Amino acid sequence: MPVKFADRMSTVHRSFIREILKVTEDASIISFAGGLPNPELFPVADLEAAAVKVMRESGPQSMQYSTTEGFQPLRQYIADRYMEKKGIKVDADEILITSGSQQCLDLLGKVFLNAGDNVVIERPGYLGAIQSFSVFESNFLTVGLEEDGPDLAELERVLDENEAKMFYAVTNFQNPSGLTYSAAKRQGVADILKGRDVLFVEDDPYGELRFMGDFEKPVVRGYLEENGILLGSFSKVAAPGFRLGWMVCGGEMRDKLIIAKQASDLHTSTFAQRVMHQYVTDNPLDNHIEKIRERYGNQRAAMVQAIEEYFPAEAKVTRPEGGMFLWVTLPEGMSSMDLFDEAIKNKVAFVPGRPFYVDGSGENTFRLNFSNSDEEHIVEGIKRLGAGIKDFLSK
Ligand code: PMP
Repeated sequence: MPVKFADRMSTVHRSFIREILKVTEDASIISFAGGLPNPELFPVADLEAAAVKVMRESGPQSMQYSTTEGFQPLRQYIADRYMEKKGIKVDADEILITSGSQQCLDLLGKVFLNAGDNVVIERPGYLGAIQSFSVFESNFLTVGLEEDGPDLAELERVLDENEAKMFYAVTNFQNPSGLTYSAAKRQGVADILKGRDVLFVEDDPYGELRFMGDFEKPVVRGYLEENGILLGSFSKVAAPGFRLGWMVCGGEMRDKLIIAKQASDLHTSTFAQRVMHQYVTDNPLDNHIEKIRERYGNQRAAMVQAIEEYFPAEAKVTRPEGGMFLWVTLPEGMSSMDLFDEAIKNKVAFVPGRPFYVDGSGENTFRLNFSNSDEEHIVEGIKRLGAGIKDFLSK
């Protein structure tokens, strides 16, 4: 007899990107498909030293169960860093350490979403959030992204016309588009949200990876005082394998999120938290981030330059000042899925854009990752891709 699955699983799909990554495992393919940080930059030796120190100095404690909220010194470190880097006031007791920021999305779904609830996301939107919220059978509404952030008129209209529970946004170097909200758009979003009972979830794993230009304050705490939750992560500034993220939120929301986390995994790995804390205590994170910025900045420059040389003018490409992605829009009517099949034959890969659009649009778009390839491969890969696009245009 077949087993019976829960209804909620009927609308959730396997991550399309994971499927694509299987295709690109072939080492001869130059892949701009993944969303992976560059492993050459993982601070392995310093993390090793931190791990040894934790084992020697607090071995039994680091092996023990611990609080759901997370290791207090690590929460204090994160809170202090917000003040130092972003100028926003966060209390260590408002931080909840999670198993990657991806877990925040799951917990937010558990705490806030009933089946059928409307969630507003960006168009294109982060696939991991689409997948996470889909598990809770949410209904997605979308707001288009412009060069400097969301289309505010559309956001206002969507919120006026629908009862939405949540607006989820990636305000810096968004995945997948690479786009960042300007100060004016941040203020605009805050103004629209003020006085509404919509939760604003601001996900910011890439904000510190800025290669040029000025930092903006987060919308949450920077512009919006209530109904906001800010998510952060060590994945892009240290190492994703540690699975360490956090959320900033206070009051009753926090109490409920802690209960959801308790029910989910009791707490995030004690050992991982202590090692990360030891690492950031002994090695200023700024020094490490500077190395990442320099490397990714050079890779981004190589990609942008190669695009200018090899892509036809009809292909529009974003020019992010940080992060890990560029976003390409081909002329209407062109299919990036068809281009993908051709590109694979030419041993170069990217992620077709349609899965990032819950409304089925975006056929003519695709995402390029620049963090995980060296400059030589970037130039060669973009050259092959450019030739493929020109070929397509001429058909
Ligand atoms: N949010 C966004 C926008 C991301 O791009 C990612 C990583 N792909 C995550 C969250 C999840 O990151 P973490 O490793 O912290 O779970």
